[in-house]
Amino acid sequence: MRGQVELPVYGDYVGQVIKEIQRNARKGLHLCVRFSGGKDSVVLKWLFDQAGIEYTARFSPTTVDPPEALDFIRKYHKDVLWDMPRIGMFSLIIKKGFPPTRMCRYCCREFKERNTCSKNAVTCTGVRQKESLKRINRRKYEICRLDANVSFFNPIIDWTEEQVWTVIDDNHIPYCCTYDEGFTRLGCIGCPLTSSKQIIKEFRRWPKFENAYYLAFKHMLEGRQFDKWKTAADVMEWYIYGAETRYKQLDAKGIEGQIDFSNNGMYEDDSFGHPTCYQDLRDVADAKRVLLNE
Ligand code: SF4
Repeated sequence: MRGQVELPVYGDYVGQVIKEIQRNARKGLHLCVRFSGGKDSVVLKWLFDQAGIEYTARFSPTTVDPPEALDFIRKYHKDVLWDMPRIGMFSLIIKKGFPPTRMCRYCCREFKERNTCSKNAVTCTGVRQKESLKRINRRKYEICRLDANVSFFNPIIDWTEEQVWTVIDDNHIPYCCTYDEGFTRLGCIGCPLTSSKQIIKEFRRWPKFENAYYLAFKHMLEGRQFDKWKTAADVMEWYIYGAETRYKQLDAKGIEGQIDFSNNGMYEDDSFGHPTCYQDLRDVADAKRVLLNE
């Protein structure tokens, strides 16, 4: 129910976020929630509903989403707008000529970053610092370093996973069934940003997707020459194990993980991986003011 929560609650971390959302909305900012269907997303959207403000929520399917996630969104979040992809993941792999990697995640750019909210909107995400080491430096208000018109508001940036689940449980917020199967994240099947162990777990759970990756790797090799990959099985082996080993080696040497593709013109930067972060600012407008005066 929109606007029904009594404030403050839960110490006051829920109430504070709701008030902050309302304050940003009062400033006339168009708030656009990037929705994934994951636990952080459903809590974020619930908070926006409780704030009782106007907002839009958008979802960008990647064509390798768990079918259960798509069913969940269709069933419980009919108000979410879908940004349909221009190309599927497997056609994209064949077109690019190499699998996506942690350092060259062209799929994120194609499926997610290309579909960011419009420039006059503030992109609101469920990013949390405690999700991973990489996110530890993320902040509540951020501006894209490459484009000051793209701004972010991450309302639950400092929440713990426990806080997220407490809000879900206490308020009976529906969540995707894969969490009850032991999956702790809801994302693309076979995502290179996860560990080898996670990719294997996902391929066992969704074997048709593993087959589809295998076929994509097979077609990807057609007409191309690679020293280390002769067959689809070579690519699959590297995709699951090789890339992770390489990142660990580079980490151990303190070298930033530029993988082999960086020298051949195929490396693509991830602009959203380089936001300019602002802490202790009251809202996105403050963040922009600081940025423009820098
Ligand atoms: S989340 Fe992973 S698989 Fe999905 S688009 Fe981003 S890098 Fe690619």
